[in-house]
Amino acid sequence: MEKIYGVIGDPIAHSMSPDMHNDLFQFYNLHARYHAFHVKQEHLRDAIKGFKAIGLSGFNVTIPHKVAILEMLDEVEEVAANIGAVNTVVNENGKLVGYNTDGQGYITSLMTKIKKELKECQVLIIGAGGAARGIYISLAAAGVKTIDIVNRTAENADKIIASCRYKTSSSYYEISGNEYDLTKYDIIINTTSIGMHPNIDQTPIPIEQDLSGTVVSDIIYNPLETSFLKDAQRNGAIIDNGIGMFVYQGALAFEKWTGIFPDPARMERVVRTRLGGTT
Ligand code: NAP
Repeated sequence: MEKIYGVIGDPIAHSMSPDMHNDLFQFYNLHARYHAFHVKQEHLRDAIKGFKAIGLSGFNVTIPHKVAILEMLDEVEEVAANIGAVNTVVNENGKLVGYNTDGQGYITSLMTKIKKELKECQVLIIGAGGAARGIYISLAAAGVKTIDIVNRTAENADKIIASCRYKTSSSYYEISGNEYDLTKYDIIINTTSIGMHPNIDQTPIPIEQDLSGTVVSDIIYNPLETSFLKDAQRNGAIIDNGIGMFVYQGALAFEKWTGIFPDPARMERVVRTRLGGTT
């Protein structure tokens, strides 16, 4: 029987996940289909019950359901529980188990760019929203010792730092201040939406220092090269765009469902085609 997978969210029509996963099911000769399900907040509980009843094999979860779904699942894996958000659900013999592959997806993508041991790296995260939280907790779980946060709202950064169960040291800096020294970090990550289409000329913080050897990531993927990444590259940094995180969160979800770690280059081609870029 054909296995059914999907993604739930509101809105959902824009999702690139069906393109990416259906291409993989076909490529790996798996009898499965992946659908986008438009689920409104008030119908989330019923949708989950329905998925369980019909034996859906697994699904991704996107905005606005990543947090609310936690209490509706049978089990939530430790890092996802600490992040407080689930983006991947696996039907394990009738039990719905929640995972978070967003932060790990970012790390897996990052590993293709860094030369140093991740544990030895000093990291600066710009932003303290949902994506920052997943990345912060996943980096801390991976043993990163210093993870500082730059954000507009101190309270949001403090909440992330205080709720992390993994040992790491962190300082908070105001985004419009100039108290942070970019040159001390091995990895700098923009997780804010500043610079996203249509505001493509905006950058979260200025980069004027020489950043040779530093990896600068922007998890935005529309545009593929943000003004922030352009500034970083001009100052010698190794740059990393948001496609990697998106592709690898999907690859890790696919692996959880099928046991196959798929070809990320193939997935990236599908995403770039959807975004209208070249491959
Ligand atoms: P979110 O929870 O709404 O957080 C947004 C963050 O940006 C907050 O820290 C917020 O600061 C900051 N921010 C927004 N506008 C600002 C402004 N004008 N000035 C200063 N700070 C501002 O959003 P999210 O879910 O974390 O997503 C953030 C970005 O990541 C989006 O662009 C999204 O598309 C991208 N993303 C990419 C991937 C991927 O796979 N590549 C995955 C998830 C998200 P405050 O705390 O002060 O409000």
